[in-house]
Amino acid sequence: MPELPEVETVRRGLHELIIGRAIKNIDHDTEKSFPNAVADVQSFLINASIADVRRRAKVLMIDLSTAYTLVIHLKMTGQLVYRGDSVFGAGHPNDSLSLWGAKIHPKRLVNTITQDEFVRLYTELREVMNLAIEKGGSTDKNYVNAEGKRGSYMDFARVFRREGLACPRCGTEIIKFKAAGRGTHICPYCQVL
Ligand SMILES: [Zn+2]
Repeated sequence: MPELPEVETVRRGLHELIIGRAIKNIDHDTEKSFPNAVADVQSFLINASIADVRRRAKVLMIDLSTAYTLVIHLKMTGQLVYRGDSVFGAGHPNDSLSLWGAKIHPKRLVNTITQDEFVRLYTELREVMNLAIEKGGSTDKNYVNAEGKRGSYMDFARVFRREGLACPRCGTEIIKFKAAGRGTHICPYCQVL
């Protein structure tokens, strides 16, 4: 279960990103997490614009221009699992990628992470997870793309297992780094402790 500060961080992130924007399409992961009738959802949500993002305790409320409100309970916060005092275990490629994307060193202490950094990390993690799912759901699994070309999610892993190669953002050499006893990969220029 997410804690209050995490829910508030998500609220602020959403507030910055979606106010005034219109809903063009609806998608959901599981039927259970979105128990509304399809016809209702279509008529209440499609083309509605976002008026406000509010929070009551741990529940998020997204007010729509149609006078309806989406009520959201965040049952999980993605992969943000804190181990010890450091931000991530960071051994998994998704963690390495998210930290690299958010420019956060894996040994940063959780209580030093700023609101902005948390939002960046959350955004990166969502993107990385979506990419992993899009590319086959597993880091080692091969996939065949729309043009019939073979590839793997690892082709998109910009830092993981890339020690000695250049950081795609700044050109600094990627180094291997031990965090919580597990090997991870960082750009020593982008991810300063
Ligand atoms: Zn870099």
